[in-house]
Amino acid sequence: MKALTEAEVRASLVNASGGDAARMTLPGLHEVVWDSREYLGWRDTRVPARGYLVHWRGDQPVGIAVRAAEQRMRPGIQAMCSLCRTPQPASQVALFSAARAGEAGREGNTVGTYICADLACSLIIRIAPPRSDMQPSPEEVIAGRAAGLQQRLEAFTAEVLAER
Ligand SMILES: [Zn+2]
Repeated sequence: MKALTEAEVRASLVNASGGDAARMTLPGLHEVVWDSREYLGWRDTRVPARGYLVHWRGDQPVGIAVRAAEQRMRPGIQAMCSLCRTPQPASQVALFSAARAGEAGREGNTVGTYICADLACSLIIRIAPPRSDMQPSPEEVIAGRAAGLQQRLEAFTAEVLAER
């Protein structure tokens, strides 16, 4: 993805108030490897239940504030992130809710979805599968995962924006 500035990130939130945007804690943007990401995602270090996902929609950065459910999934079972579809231990996936943008969100309307608890789908999908003669190359596998993640992220955004 194209790099984001702090000002762009703060201005990007579509489902939070200006006050929330001003208060959010940003990650170290200078440490981000933008080329290996579909979206910038992080948990707020001061308010750990809060998280944010920011991605480019055309030439417009769109940020979504999410809140992790307090209830944790039962340990020992497998779960799957709905954005990157990586199967992993349930403790690494969390149920997040996102307020819908605008009036609907102010009335308490939310979208719930399971996402990697650390909001780092872009990192997990880049763990290369073992090379095998029977499968596409690891590079192709990762490119396919990235395309799928991008597509599902856009669908999630459309839902938060109540476009469908
Ligand atoms: Zn994920």
